[in-house]
Amino acid sequence: MEKFDVVVVGAGTAGCLAAKTTAEAGLKVCLIERKRKEEIGEKICGDALGEHHLKTLGLEKPQGGELEKRIEGIKIYSPDLETVFVIAHEDFVGYLLNRRLFGQWLLRKALDKGAVLYDSTLCLSPIIEKGFVTGVSVKNQEKNEKFQLKAKMVLDASGFLAVIRRKLPDDMMIQREISNEDIEACYREIRQLKQEGNETNYCEIYLDQKVTPGGYTWIFPKGGARVNAGLGVCMGGAFPNPKKQFYEHILKKPLFQGSLLLSGGAWYDPTRRPLDNMVGNGVAILGDAACLVNPIHGGGIGPSMLSGYLAGKTVIEALEKGDVSQKSLWPYNVRYMEMYGVKQAALDVFRLLLLNSRNEDLSYGMKYKLMTEEDVLKAGLGKDFRLKITETAKRVFRGLKRIRFLNRLRLTVNFMREVKTHYQNYPKTIEEFKKWQIETETLFKKAKSKVMSSKSLEV
Ligand SMILES: Cc1cc2nc3c(=O)[nH]c(=O)nc-3n(C[C@H](O)[C@H](O)[C@H](O)COP(=O)(O)OP(=O)(O)OC[C@H]3O[C@@H](n4cnc5c(N)ncnc54)[C@H](O)[C@@H]3O)c2cc1C
Repeated sequence: MEKFDVVVVGAGTAGCLAAKTTAEAGLKVCLIERKRKEEIGEKICGDALGEHHLKTLGLEKPQGGELEKRIEGIKIYSPDLETVFVIAHEDFVGYLLNRRLFGQWLLRKALDKGAVLYDSTLCLSPIIEKGFVTGVSVKNQEKNEKFQLKAKMVLDASGFLAVIRRKLPDDMMIQREISNEDIEACYREIRQLKQEGNETNYCEIYLDQKVTPGGYTWIFPKGGARVNAGLGVCMGGAFPNPKKQFYEHILKKPLFQGSLLLSGGAWYDPTRRPLDNMVGNGVAILGDAACLVNPIHGGGIGPSMLSGYLAGKTVIEALEKGDVSQKSLWPYNVRYMEMYGVKQAALDVFRLLLLNSRNEDLSYGMKYKLMTEEDVLKAGLGKDFRLKITETAKRVFRGLKRIRFLNRLRLTVNFMREVKTHYQNYPKTIEEFKKWQIETETLFKKAKSKVMSSKSLEV
């Protein structure tokens, strides 16, 4: 049976970064992927990546067609289409990726550093011995052959499916299942438009609670009159079929008349705060498997790569000490929370507000600037902001008998601040974790009941 220092399950953005980071340090690394090598990178995705994510990780800009189009910012359309927020800031500058080429570029980085790839290989389950994950059971899909791989560390980078996380024992204190309310069901197509020359450099986002309850529609330019267009709906309660919504409401826009379908498909996005704890004995959880997606816009490529890098660094230190216990791996939690988790958790509160807002609230809210573009920008950057609600806005909302929405917005901003402080105090050691986790649960329960307070009370 082959033995490795590190087995990484999943060669997505998180897995490739983790394999690259650990292999670079001279560790014996194995990357397991159910897809064939040449398919790695292909994914149902919006394909948008902020440039700052590459900079943070010290990655150069790829030059081989991986970056298809430069983006200057985001435009957010209100449900009645009367107001457009234009968010143009260096942190919103980025690229539309050729997802397959970008994935292949990351994979090459891992393999060039010496990681070994087992492609067409499905990971079935973790091997657990004496409370430690010590390897994985896998199946080669081409040969239909089952076998085991042993490792000092196993990293679950299998994305939404989280094949390892879902099979870990209770005492590792890693949440196995997440609520449907925290998942967006998405449908996406790449289309060639008929009209050339109508190119924009902005990613467009459309809010409409009737078409995309708890989500949004996106239309992102890919260059050459191609677009990446899709929508996501929150899976809480009885949610509509995203593909049906896309065909009934979005493809009927004049923009898509005579357009050609290049590819399409559906997938899931876990849009919530990170798992409270992402490490156990001999195991760490990365990327989508650990719910490391921005809760507002669903972007997870950047944070998943960050988690791959941070988990990789922590594993190197743990193996140097010869200690892969949960305690020894704890710094991965602390580092991720500090760099992205704090912002992600605060935005999870804002998501609660959006989930329960009506089209009228959002349209009037944007029109009368209950929240300004600057507020949205600051929220997006994880910065504190104070609402400066104008007298006109107050008058309008009073007139509309929607003063409750205004109050919910104020409460949301306060809770965002509280959650941010709480996550800034993420426990430095495992001993303080249980207490912190109970406080987290209480805080989110309170935020949920206040921020999502019954719409029916609004008249
Ligand atoms: C519709 C949609 C649109 C999105 N748009 C954007 C966007 O515009 N920008 C952005 O930043 N993010 C976006 N995201 C989120 C982004 O795609 C993910 O956050 C990111 O890809 C997570 O990377 P990952 O490596 O954790 O997981 P993944 O990229 O999902 O990689 C997981 C890998 O594990 C493999 N795998 C799974 N199970 C097994 C198994 N049992 N055995 C072996 N291998 C396995 C998979 O084949 C896959 O290659 C979007 C998501 C969706 C669903």
